Amino acid sequence: MLPLAHRPSRQASCPIKVSFEFFPPKTDEMEATLWSSIERLAPLDPHFVSVTYGAGGSTRERTHATVSRLVRETQLKPAAHLTCVAATKDEVDNVVRSYWDAGVRHVVALRGDPVGGLGTAYEPHPDGYRRTCDLVAGIKSVGDFEVSVSAYPEKHPEAASLDADIDVLQQKVDCGADRAITQFFFDNDVYFRYLDRVRARGINIPIIPGIVPVQNFKQTANFAAKTGASIPAWLAARFEGLDNDVETRKLIAAAVAAEQVIDLVDRGVNEIHFYTMNRADLVYAICRLLGLRNQAERVAA
Ligand code: FAD
Repeated sequence: MLPLAHRPSRQASCPIKVSFEFFPPKTDEMEATLWSSIERLAPLDPHFVSVTYGAGGSTRERTHATVSRLVRETQLKPAAHLTCVAATKDEVDNVVRSYWDAGVRHVVALRGDPVGGLGTAYEPHPDGYRRTCDLVAGIKSVGDFEVSVSAYPEKHPEAASLDADIDVLQQKVDCGADRAITQFFFDNDVYFRYLDRVRARGINIPIIPGIVPVQNFKQTANFAAKTGASIPAWLAARFEGLDNDVETRKLIAAAVAAEQVIDLVDRGVNEIHFYTMNRADLVYAICRLLGLRNQAERVAA
């Protein structure tokens, strides 16, 4: 592996597409943080930006408000996350129609977590979409949306096996999914092994790696434990003893994420989805390392 300084700008050789995920803010302060992050990241010209949907549909209005504001006030292409949880088909279809009317053309379709929380049994709404693939087909029947879905390189915790999980991905593709975005992972070999298995099954949609810069190691480790993503020992070791040292943690987080994305790009990946946690600084720096530049700089070059 060449040291960073000797690498050509990736942007120059093969343009790298990035997308950014945000969550809808709860308070005025969070709203201000979100929009300043969007302002910082927007000039990098992301392929799309997505806005999550709270567990059980709890952020339906806030997700809609954030996505609609993105359409109205920016040139960005927003993708609205949507789940099947606790809603009838009619309710979900109405949300989809309202996105279409607001000018949104991309939905990230998900089953969602059980109403009782992770680890409890999933009960579909009696009048709702039972499976994500049904939701994908439903969205496609409302309008000519681009539909992204999830993928789990380390398997979804509820899946009996990785193959069973890939069966579910296959169903979503058969119903019209255009792209999958992965759960976050830290070991790139895990992603490439998964990709091999998915391709061997004849699934050819893009499987975009989802990257989480570790803003807070403890929080990330807790979330990873719930979602079935593994935390390699080397990663834990890098953050060990730094609970009270925010500045060093931030530097390490940037280095870890930069190493990971540069390795992905070196191994042929040209599209990356960042879980931003509504914070721009780490993601912006990592994108610069990938060779991405602000629009104004690109024009001047
Ligand atoms: P699917 O891919 O449809 O299924 C995943 C696995 O769950 C399957 O392999 C299967 O084994 C099992 N499974 C599915 N249905 C059943 C069933 N009826 N009975 C038994 N097992 C079943 N969650 C949110 O609430 N809001 C979001 O905005 C959001 N965004 C996400 C974005 C990405 C990129 C990812 C990777 C996840 C996101 N999630 C979000 C989390 C997601 O909702 C949960 O992981 C949920 O538990 C599964 O939804 P899915 O669409 O990934 O499930």
